[in-house]
Amino acid sequence: MSEETVVIVGAGHAGGQAAASLRQFKWPGHIVMAGEEAYLPYQRPPLSKGFLSGDLEYERLFLKPEAFYAQHDVDRVLEAEIASLDLEAKTVHAKNGEAHRFDKLILATGARVRRLTCPGADCDGVYYLRTIDDVRGIQARFREGARLVVVGGGYIGLEAAAVARKMGLEVTVLEAEDRVLARVAGPEVSAFYQDVHRDAGVDIRLGARVSEIAVEDGCVRACVLDGGEETPADLVIVGIGILPNAEIAAEAGLVVSNGIDTNEFAQTSHRDVYAIGDCANHFNPIYDRRMRLESVHNALEQAKTAAAHICGKEKPYSQVPWFWSDQYDLKLQTQGVSAGYDEAVVRGAPDARSFAVFYLKKGRLIATDAVNAPAEFLGSKALIAAGATPAPERLKDPDVPLKDLI
Ligand code: FAD
Repeated sequence: MSEETVVIVGAGHAGGQAAASLRQFKWPGHIVMAGEEAYLPYQRPPLSKGFLSGDLEYERLFLKPEAFYAQHDVDRVLEAEIASLDLEAKTVHAKNGEAHRFDKLILATGARVRRLTCPGADCDGVYYLRTIDDVRGIQARFREGARLVVVGGGYIGLEAAAVARKMGLEVTVLEAEDRVLARVAGPEVSAFYQDVHRDAGVDIRLGARVSEIAVEDGCVRACVLDGGEETPADLVIVGIGILPNAEIAAEAGLVVSNGIDTNEFAQTSHRDVYAIGDCANHFNPIYDRRMRLESVHNALEQAKTAAAHICGKEKPYSQVPWFWSDQYDLKLQTQGVSAGYDEAVVRGAPDARSFAVFYLKKGRLIATDAVNAPAEFLGSKALIAAGATPAPERLKDPDVPLKDLI
């Protein structure tokens, strides 16, 4: 074995994949994977879906079994928050006093939840959804008839709302914007999901900004809106976005904008330091701009890119981002990034619970939201990657296969 060491900071989707890919690409040296949580890398998507509902067992959350890391000589250092990076001495320092020297460093620190800052927000009964431990806290209060208020109508909030309804809770979603999913999808998709949730008995309130959490005996009693209206709550789940964990990188002098800036090989402004996943702000050649993505696909693919580069293989990152969300019997699959679109074209019928929205910018297809429409989801990838400019009338026509539009 070579004496060189790769240290991976963060044991999530990206960190776990980086360790596996380093061995796959024949990294001959040591690998140390240091993670703040007590767990080996696990899947986060089920936390607001099957694991929250109890349909997916704990054991099935994990990306790889413990034996995999042992067999592949990956040192697992868990419950170890890395507090600082010394790029001169090529050493990371953990809060618990341990230090690890590296030749190459991969930052896979992910993101943390954005917290409510209003009065009462720290009381008992207010939850976030990012970790296994978060879900365990929520599950202890997930009882039929309990009143759940979800703050934030993004994917995670809506998924949690769908699970809670199925489990018989009374659910209210408070969304500050005038539609749900406003940050990530067009109005057609927002309107569809608002209807679906309302039909399922969720009280969706739009333009509803929380200004206070009313507390009784240390525990949440209600969410108070701007204007004073109260929504009674036995528990609250807050899903108002995440913030990249980029502070240790910035403090060490790496270039950080919205996340840690990287090039096409996932390298940061220091050639021996890489950043991947939710914490990284990469240049995406398909969109000709920098972006920070929050998706499993992005975390896994950037991990492969970084591992390949460390092993001397150039595998420049050029991916059409994709994402999914499961709510009730609906699978939403998103290909690409719709931000900045100037035209939306709908194929299929939302009423039939199977349709796609194509987002165009200056005639070019940049993203697709496909609801129970896998062919449209799959077919869009090549169109987006090729920078195709399909005619809207043909995009709209369900009889025209997408492959004919390249
Ligand atoms: P993370 O998975 O966040 O892992 C980062 C790890 O690094 C964490 O364990 C963290 O504790 C650790 N860490 C941070 N700082 C330090 C430090 N200083 N020292 C040591 N360790 C540190 N994506 C999809 O594509 N589809 C979905 O349906 C979907 N659903 C989701 C549902 C939920 C509830 C959540 C929370 C996320 C969901 N996502 C989904 C997003 C997806 O899970 C993330 O994009 C993905 O986890 C990013 O992987 P990552 O490794 O970059 O970050």
